[in-house]
Amino acid sequence: MAQIAWVHFYKSAEIEGAPIGKGESDTMTETPFKERENLIILGSGPAGLTAAIYAARANLEPLVLEGYEAGGQLMLTTEVENYPGFPNGILGPEMMRLFREQAIRFGTRCLQIDATKVDFSKHPFQIWAEDKLFKTSAVIIATGASANLLGLPSESRLLGHGVSTCATCDGAFFKGDEITVIGGGDSAVEEAIFLTRFASKVTLIHRRDQLRASKIVQERAFKNPKIHFQWNSVPTEFLGEKTLEGVRIKNVQTGKEEALPCLGAFVAIGHTPNTKIFAPYLELDSKGYIVIRNQTKTNIDGIFVAGDVQDARYRQAVTAAGSGCMAALDAEKYLESLPHL
Ligand code: NAP
Repeated sequence: MAQIAWVHFYKSAEIEGAPIGKGESDTMTETPFKERENLIILGSGPAGLTAAIYAARANLEPLVLEGYEAGGQLMLTTEVENYPGFPNGILGPEMMRLFREQAIRFGTRCLQIDATKVDFSKHPFQIWAEDKLFKTSAVIIATGASANLLGLPSESRLLGHGVSTCATCDGAFFKGDEITVIGGGDSAVEEAIFLTRFASKVTLIHRRDQLRASKIVQERAFKNPKIHFQWNSVPTEFLGEKTLEGVRIKNVQTGKEEALPCLGAFVAIGHTPNTKIFAPYLELDSKGYIVIRNQTKTNIDGIFVAGDVQDARYRQAVTAAGSGCMAALDAEKYLESLPHL
């Protein structure tokens, strides 16, 4: 199964933000990093960048390793209408640009590279990214979760142009329209119910003839006259040049194909948290999300967590930003308690 390939919108992997003194260790001599950073934030969605704003304003001079897919899932959204403070809406990528600008204004340094390996077994914590080794007293993990996608070329082409992975974000754009939802779990069925507030008809496309969703949610969906079901079916192509016009589906039992006209298609086949490199050190739940203890703390002192990487439930920009703020405040307290600072 494919996962979202985020749009790259930042210009390079060069460091941005206020430069600080050159490091003194052998590996860091020519680089504008500290020999030992106070705080490294992994991830640059709403959680990571809000953590950066708070940490920078607390003079912690945070370093954000943004990841190659900088900006997170909002980079795939067009209009964001539910983030407070933007009464006329704002484009997802533009919103993330503003978050980043605000973080840099207070002294955050941003580097668009992926962390590929960590060692959280001892102090200072170590993080590898490309050919660089970073050492840090504290870490905030805000690497997010990626919505699973079907992996069709037409799906990635029309993502943000009728194909969406977030009903809460994009549902209101389809008032009076016919739309489809793909999946049979709680997310898909809840999204289908939610989308009937806007759409004239919602067709749920599921690969089996039984839903995985909890019984109570199923019953609500079966009772809803706007929801129709296409059982034993999978999308084979999203139709349309610039915007979505329909979905071609195939019955997996008969092989028969048909085109369903629709202006919106919501892919709701699960999320995968970006936690692979942390697995040797941090407690993860059965789905791979980081288990939090006491607000934003993990099982390791000095490693904090924020946003979708620990949240399978709400997954909203505003809740991610809130937890980013909390993680930065917790990290600040932790750093104050260390003898060397
Ligand atoms: P999920 O439970 O893993 O369901 C994913 C659905 O997508 C399944 O129906 C699966 O089909 C289908 N699917 C997966 N890969 C597919 C593919 N390649 N092509 C077509 N269909 C595919 O994911 P979720 O619905 O996001 O829920 C995740 C967790 O959050 C669950 O534990 C859920 O209970 C929980 N959740 C709870 C609530 C709530 O309590 N209000 C709301 C949302 C989610 P199969 O059924 O055939 O495997």
